[in-house]
Amino acid sequence: MTNFMKHSLTALALGFFCILFWATSETKKSENNEATTTEVAATETETTSEWTCDVCKTKFSHNGIEIDRNGDCKTIEEPLQGFLCSCECAKEARKKSDQTYEEVLEKASYQADNDCEFQSDNDVLMYLIGKSFTQDGGSITIKFDESGANISGLQYQWMSYTSLGGYKGKVKLSSTDPSRPNGTMTLYVSCREKSVTDGQIVLFLN
Ligand SMILES: [Zn+2]
Repeated sequence: MTNFMKHSLTALALGFFCILFWATSETKKSENNEATTTEVAATETETTSEWTCDVCKTKFSHNGIEIDRNGDCKTIEEPLQGFLCSCECAKEARKKSDQTYEEVLEKASYQADNDCEFQSDNDVLMYLIGKSFTQDGGSITIKFDESGANISGLQYQWMSYTSLGGYKGKVKLSSTDPSRPNGTMTLYVSCREKSVTDGQIVLFLN
């Protein structure tokens, strides 16, 4: 296999993993969301909707279930919307994403930092400040600083940062750019694979 193919395979597999990881908690999608590959921000709108569980395909209307840093199930808080109907399904999805990630590491001999750990919420913030991440093969760049993040030229400020236990963290940012008022964005951080993702696009540490 050529290096290029290996690289492509790695990116593809990592992308897949991140989508699985993302599936446990995602910002509420608006009906008229103009999703493009360059649009990493999700706009919040009030919609009463029925969601289909990613795992068992059952329809549900609550905010979804996620697994917290202690491995316990909890209901996702507004304005976030998850796509897992029950504790059982949340655990199944987490198991699947962990397995997929292990397979990626094995096949690609990815240079992971296996010792990294977010022991506190503050660790997540400290990890990100001063670092910049770029989309693999793309043009999107995120640069984090004390006030928030600059995402391809748009300024966002910190809303929250949370350790999900182990090498995973979650941060929420809100737009301070006049062109995107009240826009919020949730990003998942992995210090092990040194990446951030909104669930669709994966950005790697520069
Ligand atoms: Zn389910």
